[in-house]
Amino acid sequence: ATIPGFLGEVCRRHGDRTACVFWRHGVRWSYADLARKVDQLAAGLLAIGVYKGDRVGIWAPNCPQWVLVQFATARIGAIMVNINPSYKQEELAHALRTAGVSTLITAEGHRDADYLAMLRALSPELARARPGNLRSAALPELRRVVHLGVEGRAGMYRFDEVMALGTSGKRARLDAITVGLGPHDAINIQFTSGTTGAPKGATLSHHNVLNNAISVARTMRLAPGDALCIPVPLYHCFGMVLGVLAAASYGVKMVFPDEGFDARSTLRALQDERCTAVHGVPTMFSAMLDDPDFARFDLRSLRTGIMAGAPCPEPLMRRVMQQMHCDEITIAYGMTETSPVSFQTAPDDPLERRVASVGRIGPHVEVRITDKDGAVLPVGQEGEVQTRGYLVMKGYWGDPERTSEVLQDGWMHTGDLGVIDEDGYAKITGRAGDMLIRGGENIYPAEVETVLLTHPGIAQAQVFGVPDERFGEEVAAWIIPRPHASLSAEDLQVWCRDRMARFKVPRHIRFDSEMPLTATGKAQKFRMSQILHQELA
Ligand code: ATP
Ligand code: MG
Repeated sequence: ATIPGFLGEVCRRHGDRTACVFWRHGVRWSYADLARKVDQLAAGLLAIGVYKGDRVGIWAPNCPQWVLVQFATARIGAIMVNINPSYKQEELAHALRTAGVSTLITAEGHRDADYLAMLRALSPELARARPGNLRSAALPELRRVVHLGVEGRAGMYRFDEVMALGTSGKRARLDAITVGLGPHDAINIQFTSGTTGAPKGATLSHHNVLNNAISVARTMRLAPGDALCIPVPLYHCFGMVLGVLAAASYGVKMVFPDEGFDARSTLRALQDERCTAVHGVPTMFSAMLDDPDFARFDLRSLRTGIMAGAPCPEPLMRRVMQQMHCDEITIAYGMTETSPVSFQTAPDDPLERRVASVGRIGPHVEVRITDKDGAVLPVGQEGEVQTRGYLVMKGYWGDPERTSEVLQDGWMHTGDLGVIDEDGYAKITGRAGDMLIRGGENIYPAEVETVLLTHPGIAQAQVFGVPDERFGEEVAAWIIPRPHASLSAEDLQVWCRDRMARFKVPRHIRFDSEMPLTATGKAQKFRMSQILHQELA
């Protein structure tokens, strides 16, 4: 199937149901509204000269137009390029060049960032260009900029203007184009989170993402009548695949609380829209549970959701099940390069598995665990997780070299360490690159984090290495205490010493109320390490 065919089918079955609620923007659309607007935007994009295979960038936080762009670009076979809402000028330029973006759809700004000012600085030609006919020295492939604001801006189209161009007269042309689409056509260059460094652009097809979304939705037992809260960014496959596409596949209502993650607005949206499901990375669930007003919200409608994207600590899973009433919540493991989910827990797995493993491999996916030299390891041994099947990306856009480093014979080398038991349940034990070596001893940060998180005064803990003259690397921890907890480094070291070998105990401990995160809410250990290293110097 292709995305346009899929949306058509969803609309036939669930046209009258609510598709999207954008809480912050006061927008509510049914699936029929959504499909109509998508057609209109698709025709509008054709009218301004966007065609099959063209790269269309979208640089915006979660907003209604985002969802339209996602479906409309797929409708005409254009390739959507997700651009991180927290990018600064040079990062933007890099993404636009890497993906050869010819049309950029952009918000005017987000939080304290002025997107249009950054664009004008990169491309002063905008001020004098006719919309649609930009010639930019710094961004040679960029032809047109569409902005989401209400006022006209020199050299750019307004989004509403493009919508207005998509009159029903273009319908026949649209259908003709859709006929030419195949399931293996690229529809998305999806940049990875940037947890370990510069993001990579994974090229995904209709086949990749649709099948993954449907498979995940089925495991969660989503059904019409469910309402899925999506506080995770649309910019990432967590939002656009596991959120939008998974919800659409069963006619589920999507609820977007805000433009970026905010614990309070998510709690309010969960309560007021009677959400039955909620997605988040672990840090988002912690932030909600630790909100001082948490107890005031009625979350009894909650049943399921996905926690994923980073290690999901067992105590956190138990709190989500009990305090958020989310007793069927599933853990998923995956990566952008695998569209994204490969492992997921299911509601009928035993409870211990559902809080302390990432579940079993998904349908139609192969998995193997290998050692450093690529030899396949027997059951129960730890090594690199490799996956193969329908979900593996086509490659990194325009980067065959990097692609061949991670993709061989169809096997995706995830760079994650894991172990699978006899019943097929997997544990992710860390990222190969995160493992630190202190004086010749291997230390897995996840193991130390697990112990720290059992301390009642700790809300969040990240463990990583900092360079050390004597041991090569030394163990460091970044701690966010629970509200009102008073903690000292000595307390925590004693706590750890009682529970782990001495060499693993964090030597440097930094307390803070926040930590460096990606736009997707993931802890950036490489940044923490840099910060601590500077502070220690
Ligand atoms: P980058 O590749 O740019 O450094 P990233 O790897 O974080 O960033 P994503 O594709 O968003 O980008 O995330 C995939 C990674 O997230 C996985 O490779 C894995 O390390 C981690 N991850 C995802 N789900 C889980 C999980 N349930 N448990 C542990 N780790 C997870
Ligand atoms: Mg990665």
